[in-house]
Amino acid sequence: MRTSVEGGPSRMRWVLAAVVAATALAACGDGAGGSGSGTGLDRTAGGARGGDVARLQPGDRPVRFRLDTSVTPELTGFVVETLQWAHEDLGDSGPLTVHVYSDEERFVRAYTDEYAISADEARTELDAGMHAFASPGGHIWLYLPNFEQAPLGFQRLTLFHEYQHTQQQWQAVVNFQSERVGERSFVPRWLVEGCAEHLAVQASSKRGFLDAAQERATVVSLAQQSAEPLREFETRGQAEFIGGKEEAYTVGSLACERLSATFGEDSVLSRFWVSMEQTRDWNAAFVAAFGVSPDAFYADFERYRATL
Ligand SMILES: [Zn+2]
Repeated sequence: MRTSVEGGPSRMRWVLAAVVAATALAACGDGAGGSGSGTGLDRTAGGARGGDVARLQPGDRPVRFRLDTSVTPELTGFVVETLQWAHEDLGDSGPLTVHVYSDEERFVRAYTDEYAISADEARTELDAGMHAFASPGGHIWLYLPNFEQAPLGFQRLTLFHEYQHTQQQWQAVVNFQSERVGERSFVPRWLVEGCAEHLAVQASSKRGFLDAAQERATVVSLAQQSAEPLREFETRGQAEFIGGKEEAYTVGSLACERLSATFGEDSVLSRFWVSMEQTRDWNAAFVAAFGVSPDAFYADFERYRATL
């Protein structure tokens, strides 16, 4: 049974998943007859019917859906409305495809068609509470039975968080999804998750979905439970549903907050990711975006963290 869906003081249970995929999506959501397994239907968004595709302004960015039949127009409208706000508040992320499944078997089939993961592993993640993630190429995936158990504000926060991932990827161009530190597409997990989380919380708070100060208190309290240095979360600290303790999200969001406060929000919203495209090397992109080396920042952050 799902175990991570009850309420409680920790909101981190609602903040899950991101770039967990090991392989890129191929030709998904193109409306050309499904993914090969009949798991999805192409449908228009926001309650519109008849071939219209929802578009985000400015920029006229299309949002396409892949759904199963029990996903309602109200839900797609809610998603489009929230993504419109994310687009306005955080910036462009290119065309999006949103995959929404209300049926576990359909989700598992679509998921395992696209990723190097077994059906049992996928079910385990869903049962542990996985409800949303993003994958390269502007894809956002929602597993509705878990997603809809979160309060509405956290549903919106989740969409902001996943939107941030599509924006990171859009700006970086390179798929920074390697889990091997030595590969040129590698970006530390704490930077990917921590910045998605930090920026999503800030934007959500400005929209009134939640209280950033309250969220920060929760994050600090969770981060204090970890004695490991930030550097450890270059490759670890993943979401609970894949067996982690989420330090990439908690310690990582404090690290991103520190970067943003020191070097300006644009450095974490855009400069680092654009520099990834230019340098194809996260250490070089870090220096280009922030003007300091990762080692220097790690030392600064550990001193700062000890004062929290
Ligand atoms: Zn994420």
